[in-house]
Amino acid sequence: MAVKRQLSMVLDLNKCIGCHTCSTACKLMWTNRNGREFMYWNNVETQPGLGYPRDYQQMGGGFDAEGALRLGRQPSQDDYGVPWEYNYEEALMTGTDPWLRPNVKPTWGANWDEDEGEGDYPNSYYFYLPRLCNHCDNPACLAACSRNAIYKRQEDGIVLVDQERCRGYRYCVNACPYKKIYFNEEISKSEKCIFCYPRIEKGLPTACAQQCVGRIRWIGYRDDEEGPIHLLVEKYKVALPLHGEWGTQPNVFYVPPTSPSKYASDGRAMDEQRIPLEYLESLFGPTTGEALATLERERQEKAEGRASELMDTLIGFKHAEMFKLS
Ligand code: SF4
Ligand code: SF4
Repeated sequence: MAVKRQLSMVLDLNKCIGCHTCSTACKLMWTNRNGREFMYWNNVETQPGLGYPRDYQQMGGGFDAEGALRLGRQPSQDDYGVPWEYNYEEALMTGTDPWLRPNVKPTWGANWDEDEGEGDYPNSYYFYLPRLCNHCDNPACLAACSRNAIYKRQEDGIVLVDQERCRGYRYCVNACPYKKIYFNEEISKSEKCIFCYPRIEKGLPTACAQQCVGRIRWIGYRDDEEGPIHLLVEKYKVALPLHGEWGTQPNVFYVPPTSPSKYASDGRAMDEQRIPLEYLESLFGPTTGEALATLERERQEKAEGRASELMDTLIGFKHAEMFKLS
């Protein structure tokens, strides 16, 4: 879908520490009330893992190889988990209950399987995958909406739901394979990440990127050949879309995680990284190995004291320079 310019984000998974500050910043700003309590426009999930909503990667949606829209399934309330509160008053203030307890029996939540990962010691592994709406070039949510309520802004490609037009049919929820559009039962309308457009219009980065403790997020325009997005996505090709095969053409890209060597049973370090390449390829596509090789090569250059434009960018010496919003 042609727009004048496309805003984009790159996240370096080698730097994410799983602190959830991004999710908290987003939640406090946009979704902590009025039927949005279960919504995480930004969530940080452990992979391998089921993610949020639970097992979303198996729910379908997106487009098939011929470009036909696929309507996947909607997550159930159990797939999101019911938001819960604690008896702070009784446990902490009046002392009438010795235990801090949730007010419902929790069965799933946004980081339910955090840090579980895969494999056995000493070859166990996991990494954090922060996720938000990809503000796709070919948004399945938009294609599925029979009310034409979803649109891409011409000036920056941000995908929004026109709340006046939305009638709550929820085809968008079925169609988004990332399950990053949510149905608000209190107002019977669909809602999603708005890429903090009121901040963007003031020249400020999204709240998730501004607050990111690990400085893992860059924001900029795809057509800015001097900007960090072009450098990471086009020039060095180390930033890749999540599940590009789902056909929505995401504008959020990930630098895949490198990992230490795997150990043989006799304790020898093997010439194989601990996170299996096939697994990473299943998330980030067939060029993941090349991206990892480029990262390793450039890291070595930097470690040996030579210049590396790529490593200097990935380090993110100055947070403000990670955002190029004009
Ligand atoms: Fe729509 Fe989903 Fe793409 Fe966001 S990630 S633009 S909700 S299809
Ligand atoms: Fe990762 Fe940054 Fe979010 Fe922390 S704030 S979980 S480092 S993306």
